[in-house]
Amino acid sequence: MTYISVIDLLASDAIHQEFTVKGWVRSFRANQFMALNDGSTIKNIQCVVDFENMDEALLKRITTGAAVIVTGVLEESQGAGQRVEIKVKTVHIEGDADPEDVKRTILSPKRHTLEKLREQAHLRVRTNTFGAIMRLRSKLSFAVHQYFNEHGFYQAHTPIITGSDAEGAGEMFRVSALDLENPPKKEDGSIDYSQDFFGKETNLTVSGQLEAETYALGLGKVYTFGPTFRAENSNTSRHLAEFWMIEPEVAFNDLADNMDLAEDFIKYVIRYVLEHCQDDLEFLENRLVDEDKKKPQAERATMLLREKLEFVIANNFKRVSYTEAIAILRDSKPNKKKKFKYLIDEWGADLQSEHERYLVEKHFECPVILFDYPANIKAFYMRLNEDGKTVRAMDILFPGIGEIVGGSQREERLDVLKEKMAALDIPEEELWWYLDTRKFGTCVHSGFGLGFERLVLFATGMTNIRDVIPYPRFPGHAEF
Ligand code: ATP
Ligand code: MG
Ligand code: MG
Ligand code: MG
Repeated sequence: MTYISVIDLLASDAIHQEFTVKGWVRSFRANQFMALNDGSTIKNIQCVVDFENMDEALLKRITTGAAVIVTGVLEESQGAGQRVEIKVKTVHIEGDADPEDVKRTILSPKRHTLEKLREQAHLRVRTNTFGAIMRLRSKLSFAVHQYFNEHGFYQAHTPIITGSDAEGAGEMFRVSALDLENPPKKEDGSIDYSQDFFGKETNLTVSGQLEAETYALGLGKVYTFGPTFRAENSNTSRHLAEFWMIEPEVAFNDLADNMDLAEDFIKYVIRYVLEHCQDDLEFLENRLVDEDKKKPQAERATMLLREKLEFVIANNFKRVSYTEAIAILRDSKPNKKKKFKYLIDEWGADLQSEHERYLVEKHFECPVILFDYPANIKAFYMRLNEDGKTVRAMDILFPGIGEIVGGSQREERLDVLKEKMAALDIPEEELWWYLDTRKFGTCVHSGFGLGFERLVLFATGMTNIRDVIPYPRFPGHAEF
C-alpha cells in the first residue's frame, strides 16, 4: 500500500492511480465531500465518498475531527477550488470524534477568536491558523540552522541550568537550593535529590551568551539556539517567561561586523520562509486582510504581509547612533506635545518601546539598528568606547515589534572588564571561568541575541507572542 501525504498528493500527476491518505476530517459536506487534512499543508484533499454504496453506520462516523485512513483513486476534480480529488474506495475510522463534544471545542468548523484558541492550546494546532503558524515556525527554525551551517558556524549547546546568576540578576527562575540542615527525604530515608540540584543553588539560564563567548574563542564562529527563561513579571504581547533565543558569537568580529551579520542573517531566514512557506503565508496574509477590514481606516495595514517581508529583504536597515536617536526623539512632535508616556529630554535615558516604535514606524519607516548606547544602561560585558561613556551595543528594532535583537561587541580587555564588574558588585569568583578567556589569548569578538518568537511574530504577521509558541509560559500560566 502506498501511503502519501496530502501535500504530495495535491502536487501529484498520477491520475487514476490508487493512494492511501491518513488524516483528520475537517468537514463533511452533503454526505459526500470529505475535506481531509494531515498537517502537511494548509490545504485539504477533497475525498469524494460514494455514499449510496457505503455502510450507513460507517458514514455516520465520518465527522469533523475524526482520524481516518482513506484509500481511493486520484482523479481530476470537476469542482472549483481544487485540481485533484480522491474518489474514495474505503474509509477506515481510526479515531472517532463525537459531534456533540466537537461542538464545544475549537475543532468546530468556524473562525474562533485567538483568545478562545489560547484556552485550548492542545487542540489549536488543528486549526488552519495554527497549522500555518507552526509549520512556518518550524521552517524558520530550520533556516536558522541552515544559515549558520552554510556560513561556517558550529552550534554550541550551552547549558540550560546554570550556577551563575551574574547576567540575570533578579530575573532568573531558581531551580533549587538544597537545605543541607534539613534535606527532603525519600520514603526509604535517603536524600531526595530530585527536589533540588544536588545541593547547589542553580537557576534556569536567561541567555547562553557568556558560555557561547567561551566557545567562540575556540571554535571561531558559534551559535546557540535554545530555550531561555526570564522571571520578569511582564504581561505584554512581546514577552514570555520561556522563549527561544538565537545567539551567534564570533571571534575577531567587531560591532560593524556584528551588524552586518545580524542583518544578513535576518534577511536570509525571511527569504527562506518566503520561498518555502508560500501557501501558509498566503493564508496568513488573507487572514490579516480580513481582520483589517474590521478596523477603522487609519489603523489598517499599509502593506500586505508578504510585501512587508519583501521590503525587509530589499532595503538596508537604517543604522543610527543612540545619540542621533535621542536628538530625533527630543525634536519629535510626540515628545513636544507630550504624546509619549515617557518624555525623552536627556541623553542617557533608556528608550521605552514607544520611542523605539516611533523611530521605526514613524520616523525611518524601516528596520533600524541603534548603536553606541550609554554604558550605564547596558550590561557589564559590552565593549567600552574610547569616549568612556558609551558601549559598542546594538539593538535592532522592527516595525510592529520593537526590539528584536540585542547585541554588542564584547569587552575583551581584562582590566576594564574587572572594573565594570567591581562597579556592579559582581564577584570575580562567580565568573572566574569567563575572565579566564580574557587572560588566555583574548581577542575582539561580538555577538547578539535574537528572540526567536519575535522573529516568528514578524514573519507570520501575528501580534501576540502567545500565539506563536505551542505552549506559552507567562505569569500564572504553565499548566499545560
Ligand atoms: P525587551 O527590551 O523587549 O524586554 P531585552 O532587552 O530585555 O528585551 P535582551 O536581554 O536584549 O532582551 O535579549 C535579546 C532578545 O531576546 C531581545 O532582543 C528579544 O528579541 C528577546 N527577548 C528578550 N526578552 C524576551 C521575552 N521575555 N520574551 C520573548 N523574547 C524576549
Ligand atoms: Mg527585557
Ligand atoms: Mg531591551
Ligand atoms: Mg536588549
